[in-house]
Amino acid sequence: MGTFKTKNPGNQPVWVNTNNCKACDICVSVCPAGVLGMVYEPTSTLGAMISIQHPEACIGCMECELACPDFAIYVADKKEYKFAKLVDESKERQAAVIVNNYMSLNEKRS
Ligand code: SF4
Ligand code: SF4
Repeated sequence: MGTFKTKNPGNQPVWVNTNNCKACDICVSVCPAGVLGMVYEPTSTLGAMISIQHPEACIGCMECELACPDFAIYVADKKEYKFAKLVDESKERQAAVIVNNYMSLNEKRS
């Protein structure tokens, strides 16, 4: 799977190759820490795009990278990035994102 991995844009815990993302929501659904969310993106075919909303909360669990069917999201190496711990605030945000239909909590419902 590493073949598709693009370079870390610069000290990021998690990053996306937006050319590959099909806005399937899977990565958002598996993240335990409320890091991810979909945002409305009129220029994308599916009208939405993955967004890294809370990089500071990423615990480096790799779930998003492993679950993405399109090799579009990548997680930094534990040796290169100091990840956060999973705290209640992150878990609660994740629960709220799921209730919000995987949309970022910053997005207004349409
Ligand atoms: S590595 Fe884990 S915590 Fe970080 S964005 Fe991916 S699924 Fe979420
Ligand atoms: S799992 Fe992959 S293709 Fe699906 S929304 Fe996330 S980054 Fe995009």
